[in-house]
Amino acid sequence: MSQFDYDLFVIGGGSGGVRAGRIAAEHGARVALAEEYRMGGTCVIRGCVPKKLMVYASGYPGQIHDAQQYGWEATAGRFDWSKFRGKLDAELDRLEGAYRGNLGRSGVTVYDQRAVLSDPHRVTLADGQSFSAAHILVATGGWPFVPDFPGSDLVMTSNEVFKLDEQPESVLVVGGGYIACEFAGIFNGLGTKVTQFYRGAQILRGFDDEARGHVADAMRARGIDLHVGCNVMEVKQVEGGLWVKATNGMEQVFSKVLYATGRVPNSAGLGLEEAGVVLGRNGEIKVDDYSQTNIPSIYAVGDVTDRVNLTPVAIREGHAFADTVFGGTPRKTDHELIPSAVFTQPELGTVGLTEEEARDAGPIEIYAAAFRPMQTLFAGHDERVMMKLIVCGNTRKVLGVHLVGDHAGELIQLAGVAVKMGATKEDFDATVAVHPTMAEELVTLKTPVRTA
Ligand code: NDP
Repeated sequence: MSQFDYDLFVIGGGSGGVRAGRIAAEHGARVALAEEYRMGGTCVIRGCVPKKLMVYASGYPGQIHDAQQYGWEATAGRFDWSKFRGKLDAELDRLEGAYRGNLGRSGVTVYDQRAVLSDPHRVTLADGQSFSAAHILVATGGWPFVPDFPGSDLVMTSNEVFKLDEQPESVLVVGGGYIACEFAGIFNGLGTKVTQFYRGAQILRGFDDEARGHVADAMRARGIDLHVGCNVMEVKQVEGGLWVKATNGMEQVFSKVLYATGRVPNSAGLGLEEAGVVLGRNGEIKVDDYSQTNIPSIYAVGDVTDRVNLTPVAIREGHAFADTVFGGTPRKTDHELIPSAVFTQPELGTVGLTEEEARDAGPIEIYAAAFRPMQTLFAGHDERVMMKLIVCGNTRKVLGVHLVGDHAGELIQLAGVAVKMGATKEDFDATVAVHPTMAEELVTLKTPVRTA
């Protein structure tokens, strides 16, 4: 019999923690998991899942407009926010139940309360119960960051946005990253008047420059009032909403202000420093390739480690941890060539190097097309889809794929398989086009638009 109450104690019931707990239990470990809020974490409760459902909701007016162009008699009518909210809440309850059920079936004991470390082998729960564990996994995720400025307490973050009782008439979105751009598109599609401030020269820093420009142009064309090189100086509560003073001199009242200015690792107050765990400058838990901290019994996965902050990555890190420690098969998580999508409208899908990054890595050829797809062209739209391949001039390998357009998230998943396998431009060319589709352009790009 082990000297410990549990073989593994997981702190945090999000994507990474739940996967790690379940797999460890399936490997025969005695596992407990503590979650202070709702099971499922950011992704399920206040992130990817509700966000994507809102993206779908916000797309219908455009589809109804297009349906009219195809001959349908259809009108969008009014969006019933409270009906949507009710359905959304019910769906999140269902998913939370599924997570909880899966943990139970795997034999994981769940504690619905906050847990902190008391020493490298002990956790203490909010109600005072204390348990020893051979291993402790910290999977506490991240938390929205709001900078300090006059009135910063008046703004909301992505944590609150799903809980609004009514649809705001107007919203100011601050930030130029994933969350800001996605919510600008959501509110715009739902009919809220959207203004967006980004402090830099172009939104979506870190993505391919051409793709960023394409998304920004399309967001503006769809009605988002996007201001770059602009930030908030002050926010005040006034009658009818929030008065905002901007660095460009603009003063305006908005129903709501949504801050999406990044997220920080949720590592404070967990007893980590006291247990001797090394944290980075932003509070991220420092781990090795096996997600182990400098304290051998303590591991960490997901956003709290600030490696690649995406749900599927946290899931893989959690799974690899459980296989390594409890399954007798040590393995690292591969963080290379991770495909991802930003659910802007239009979507951005990306895998591999941007043109700017690839230029530093040697000679490259750029293949690109921007075209009006038949479905939306027929409906009278000017918006173009962008497809771009970055090809290594020496090895012929496709180093990066960047797509902007409807379903780019779906398409990049499959392009990601080819890139991960090391496909060359000639492999793409050897694949027969699927006609008529948008994606066929990916295998019919004949001559480079430029080399570098
Ligand atoms: P990001 O780091 O993507 O973006 C933060 C944005 O806020 C940047 O534009 C940044 O500007 C700006 N910013 C930061 N500090 C300030 C400040 N003090 N004043 C004004 N602007 C500021 O964070 P998000 O919150 O959008 O998303 C967090 C993470 O969540 C993402 O990195 C991603 O990993 C994940 N995510 C993934 C999604 C997906 O896969 N579809 C969806 C949503 C989130 P600058 O560029 O100048 O630094």
